Amino acid sequence: VDAGHEPIVYEARDVLGGKVSAWQDEDGDWIETGLHIFFGAYPNMMNLFAELNIEDRLQWKRHQMIFAMQELPGEFTTFDFLEGVPAPLNFALAILLNQQMLTMPEKLQTAPPLLPMLVEGQKFIDQQDDMSVLEFMEKYGMPDRINEEVFVAMAKALDFIDPDKLSMTVVLTAMNRFLNETDGLQMAFLDGNQPDRLCAPMKEHIEQRGGKVLLNSPMDKFVLNEDRTIKHILMRDGSIVEADEYISAVPCDIMKRIMPKEWANDPFFRQIDELEGIPVINIHMWFDRKLLNVDHLCFSRSPLLSVYADMSTTCKEYKDDDRSMLSLVFAPCSPLAG
Ligand SMILES: Cc1cc2nc3c(=O)[nH]c(=O)nc-3n(C[C@H](O)[C@H](O)[C@H](O)COP(=O)(O)OP(=O)(O)OC[C@H]3O[C@@H](n4cnc5c(N)ncnc54)[C@H](O)[C@@H]3O)c2cc1C
Repeated sequence: VDAGHEPIVYEARDVLGGKVSAWQDEDGDWIETGLHIFFGAYPNMMNLFAELNIEDRLQWKRHQMIFAMQELPGEFTTFDFLEGVPAPLNFALAILLNQQMLTMPEKLQTAPPLLPMLVEGQKFIDQQDDMSVLEFMEKYGMPDRINEEVFVAMAKALDFIDPDKLSMTVVLTAMNRFLNETDGLQMAFLDGNQPDRLCAPMKEHIEQRGGKVLLNSPMDKFVLNEDRTIKHILMRDGSIVEADEYISAVPCDIMKRIMPKEWANDPFFRQIDELEGIPVINIHMWFDRKLLNVDHLCFSRSPLLSVYADMSTTCKEYKDDDRSMLSLVFAPCSPLAG
């Protein structure tokens, strides 16, 4: 809309947001599809919040990462990013200053294989794509404990799969991004439910400028011209949509289903064969009492639980001083991924 187009968004379901959608149950409690964190290193998302004038809805947390201690249930250890220290020094210091996760020799053994990422950048990073995180670690002689202490949590949080399945390129790309931006790893929670606090202002912005956002409007298929360009879109209710430009934003598994067979051998579209959705489960737990008060995201480091947070502490709308509400992300939830 800002560029002068008249966009029409067709959403299949009766709720906006996709994986950031949420519903209220019969008691009025919000059920979120997923616990969501916004990192400082999300420039497009930050621009979106600024353009919608809703930056105050991001609740920024202390610049640190909190890890549950594997051998000490109920205890946490942190990577603390010191204020005023620029990237990547702040990241290096955060790791060096933590005494509970890695020993000094382990830290020293970890750094050299990661240095080319900083020096050579994306070229080196892309070259590691044929190796999983575990294979990369083995090749460069990184200690096994780095995997247990750091990479399992990181792989799950980044892509919901285990380090033996995840490409090292994914981990390095994220690390490089976070390492180069002083506030890249700082995390924010949205201050309330996602439909009202994030999706509604986006819809309003589009509609006020002449666009439309339609719910319950699933598309069925692309109908092509002879030259394989799009003639129109056939909706599931039988109606036809014609436009100057078509932008598809469906998940990869759905795109595979609706993609015309005429595009299957196109080198650009063929790459989608390599992509596969990973099942993830988000669970909400309401307690009749307040648990340990951590105002942040916690990395669990268990084989199944990825990250979790007490939303009664981290999120303004769900605030409750007497009862906790945990939101927990379980991944990977398929044999394929872990
Ligand atoms: C549990 C969980 C936790 C997460 N936590 C984080 C986090 O902390 N930080 C982070 O950055 N990311 C997180 N993510 C990832 C993030 O949610 C996704 O990357 C992001 O929402 C993907 O957005 P999308 O628009 O590409 O796809 P989606 O959100 O999947 O949206 C696709 C939309 O297409 C619609 N659609 C499908 N088929 C059709 C059709 N035929 N016609 C019309 N519409 C159709 C769907 O209904 C859906 O609304 C998390 C994801 C999950 C599941």
